[in-house]
Amino acid sequence: MEIKVELTKHPKQKPDMNHLGFGNYYTDHMFEMDYTEGIGWHDARIVPYHSLEMDPASMVLHYGQSTFEGLKAYRGQDGTIRLFRPEKNMERLNISNQRLVIPQFDAEFGVEAIKKLVSIDRDWIPEGEGTSLYIRPFIIATDVHVGVHPSKTYKFMIILSPVGSYYKEGINPVRIYVEDEYCRAVRGGMGFTKTAGNYAASLIAQETAEERGYTQVLWLDGVSKTYVEEVGTMNIMFVIDGEVITPELNGSILSGITRRSALELLKDKGYKVTERKISIQEVFDAAKAGRLNEVFGTGTAAVISPVGELMWEGETVIINNGQIGPISHLVYDTITGIQSGKLKDPYGWVTVID
Ligand SMILES: *Cc1c(COP(=O)(O)O)cnc(C)c1O
Repeated sequence: MEIKVELTKHPKQKPDMNHLGFGNYYTDHMFEMDYTEGIGWHDARIVPYHSLEMDPASMVLHYGQSTFEGLKAYRGQDGTIRLFRPEKNMERLNISNQRLVIPQFDAEFGVEAIKKLVSIDRDWIPEGEGTSLYIRPFIIATDVHVGVHPSKTYKFMIILSPVGSYYKEGINPVRIYVEDEYCRAVRGGMGFTKTAGNYAASLIAQETAEERGYTQVLWLDGVSKTYVEEVGTMNIMFVIDGEVITPELNGSILSGITRRSALELLKDKGYKVTERKISIQEVFDAAKAGRLNEVFGTGTAAVISPVGELMWEGETVIINNGQIGPISHLVYDTITGIQSGKLKDPYGWVTVID
């Protein structure tokens, strides 16, 4: 499919690239493509960034039939623009679509759309250490109909946002609250997808954790509240006696691309890496026995987020004296090094935009 391009006649004023924060600014253009039953995906186009006019009865507004992705474009010191495993994001978007009964699209075409849009808005990619252009592909159900059934029409969009460095003053470990009342997702539900409703379900616990002085929530399995699942927007890894352990993918955990990359590179570097069920009791027992060396979250936003403290049912454990540990450091340096072009890319993870 051809992507038509209509360039803006009114370029926006660019923000101060030294004070971007996250998700505050959007670029000059966006990608759009429509789906109509019987026709398929059609009218792929890059157009000036614009507001949407929607009928109030549009199905996505009522029943949440929507999916999304999140990835970044990085500008290296060599000026080259790189994407990190974008094909994995497009494949995952189709996995989410399947669960939400949204039609499949051509994942390779999705990567082409991202590359073309980023190339057109390349002047928006910030240059500072740790900064990037956040890419948000998403799909919404657009039938005008209040009634619960899958929509027959959809809109696929991609928008871009220049974002600042996640870590302004070095990587400081976060304090995490182990949620023992609410759950985010259950097996058979939508936990393995990126869909709006999962995040709506998480807000109340996040708010409570923040009130108590914690940065993030660690979710336990929704049935027995025994096994560790993941952090709100990150997967989680534990280092116990030098072995890297992460919860196995079970249907309620999101299959993170940073998670997969961390596991692949740690295995490659000779670490013992295990995907299995791990109970929160085991984590606390290991911490109390002095065997819990490191805990860290993995996700596109921060790459690695070291955990310095865990609180579960009123009990607190401090991890690695609240400092970032060597394995967390290695994963962070390697992945960000490959993304920025400072390190070689032995795994073929990078897609260059020219
Ligand atoms: C996006 C996301 C992650 C991290 O996935 P990456 O592909 O590594 O960015 C982890 N958990 C949830 C719930 C997410 O939405």
